[in-house]
Formats: sequence, C-alpha cells, structure tokens
Amino acid sequence: MTSAVLGAEAASTGVAAQTIGANSTVRFDAVTVAYRGAIVLKPLTLDVAAGEILAMIGPSGSGKTTALRAVAGFVRPASGRIHIGGADVTDLPPYERGLAMVVQNYALFPHMRVADNVAFGLKARGAAKPLIEERVDDALRVVGMQKFLKRYPRELSGGQQQRVAIARALAVRPRVLLLDEPLSALDAQIRRTMVEEIARLHVDLPGLTILYVTHDQSEALTLADRIAILKDGALSAIGRTSDLYRRPPNRFAAEFLGRANLLPVSWREIPARMEWLRSAPAPTDSWWRATRRPQARVASSAFVRSI
Ligand code: ADP
Repeated sequence: MTSAVLGAEAASTGVAAQTIGANSTVRFDAVTVAYRGAIVLKPLTLDVAAGEILAMIGPSGSGKTTALRAVAGFVRPASGRIHIGGADVTDLPPYERGLAMVVQNYALFPHMRVADNVAFGLKARGAAKPLIEERVDDALRVVGMQKFLKRYPRELSGGQQQRVAIARALAVRPRVLLLDEPLSALDAQIRRTMVEEIARLHVDLPGLTILYVTHDQSEALTLADRIAILKDGALSAIGRTSDLYRRPPNRFAAEFLGRANLLPVSWREIPARMEWLRSAPAPTDSWWRATRRPQARVASSAFVRSI
C-alpha cells in the first residue's frame, strides 16, 4: 500500500481547532536505513519542531522517501531511534504513530465515493457514525472539496483527487503529516494552486507538523520553514529556507537550491560593505556563490571568500 491513513488522535473538536503542542515534534536520532545490507540512509540526526514544515529535497535516490518511510514505520531503521512528540516510536507499528501519509499517485480507493474514502481510516478504527460525519465534513472543508462528497475518484481531476487524499489523511487528526512528492503527478498550473492550498491548510492547522519530500525546489522554497538537502543518503545542508537560499553552506546546496553562477574565489580582504561575511557560516568547500539574486547582492568582482 503506497498511501496510508496511519493513526488518529481522540479529540473530537474541529480540525481547525488544533493548536501547536509539543506532541507533534519529530526527532531522527542517528537513524540509518539499509536495504539488503546496503546503507541508503547514513546516520541522520534531525529535529523537526511542532507545527514546522520541513522540506526534504535532494536528487533522486538521495534517501528522502526512505527517511519519510522510517518516520511512518514502513521501514525499520538499521540503527538509531525515531521520536515523535518526545516518545520513542521506533518499535511502534505505523498505525500507532499518529501520522498520516500522502503520496504522489493519490491512492484513493476507486470503488469508494469521496466521503467513504475520507472516512476510511476512521471506520477502520471503529469511530462512531456522528464523529465520522463530522470529521469527513471538516476535512473536506479544509481542502475545499465538501461539494464532492458523492463523486467517485474517476469523476475528479488529478488536483481534486489529491485534495481528497489530503482530506483522508487529515480526517484521522494526525499530529504529523508526511507528504511524499504529493504534487508530482499534477501539471504545473495545478501544482502552483495546490502549493498555495497546502500553505493555507497549514495556516488553518498550525499544530500540524509537515514533512514534505519533493524534488521541486520551488515547492520547498514556497512552503517550508526549513529545508533539509540530502545527498547520497546523508544530510548535506539544513537551514531556514531564506538562509539556505541566500547563503548555502556548500557548493552542492548552492547548485541544488535556486539558480547560481559559481565562481572559484580566494580570500584577500573583505570590503567594508561586505563586513557581514565575517559572521556568515564558513563555506565547507572552496566555492562560493556569486549570485544575481537581488536579495543577496554578493556578485561584485571584488567579492572574495576564504578557501
Ligand atoms: P529518494 O526518495 O531521494 O529518491 P529513496 O529513499 O527512494 O530516494 O531511495 C534511496 C536509495 O534506496 C536508492 O538508492 C534506492 O534505489 C534505494 N531503495 C529504495 N527503496 C528500496 C527497496 N525497497 N529495496 C532496495 N533498495 C531501495
């Protein structure tokens, strides 16, 4: 199963009534994952704050989905621990972790109407009918799909199907929402709209922590509070979105996030107007970005940096 509704909180208040609480923090504590003995996720230590959107980006095969699946409980770490809300969940099955996951291909049940798709996780948990109706209504409202209750997935556009998939995830009141390339199957125009909708959804649900895996840097730049860049199964860079964009700590981050012209430079002196460089994080390699981005005017020919 590629999409899953993994757990629920007992609260019966509206989805929008969620508040930020420490129970939605996520911690990777030196987590490694191996497939048939081959390490594909090197020791990953990373804290995600409650209510934060953390985007994980990186080339194909860099370990993004594996990291997400480790949080979900679909893959067991070879070593290290996963904590959610301060509790060690490494040995818990997926459905006891209080999470929901949405994947690229929606994975809606084709023979079920929208309402039944969204109700699925709650029914599986034996929730009472009035509660199910309230939750389904609430979740569909959050994604703007309350008028489509009776449709079948085949009667919806790709964007609408993905909204239903998100509603199905939200209906179980997850404390953490895992989004694995949720918009990749959609065309560019719908993707932009959906990115805005996910941003709005997060305003409505400030307590919900979101781990967002994407290869699309513009989605990450638009949505994320922080971005983690993975490369070859290891964390290459992490930082607040604007910091990482303006002052990437290494060449890989500079090249991967945004467009950049890279120039080899060497240190002679720092002009007074670039005094801020002294407090900037030291680059970890001999390249620094000379950028044309208006926000970061560092493309001067006098620009130098230590190597
Ligand atoms: P990403 O999401 O960044 O594209 P993945 O986490 O899917 O990367 O994959 C990381 C590495 O693990 C890749 O080399 C991939 O081939 C390998 N991998 C992923 N899933 C499996 C699996 N079920 N069995 C064996 N290798 C896998």
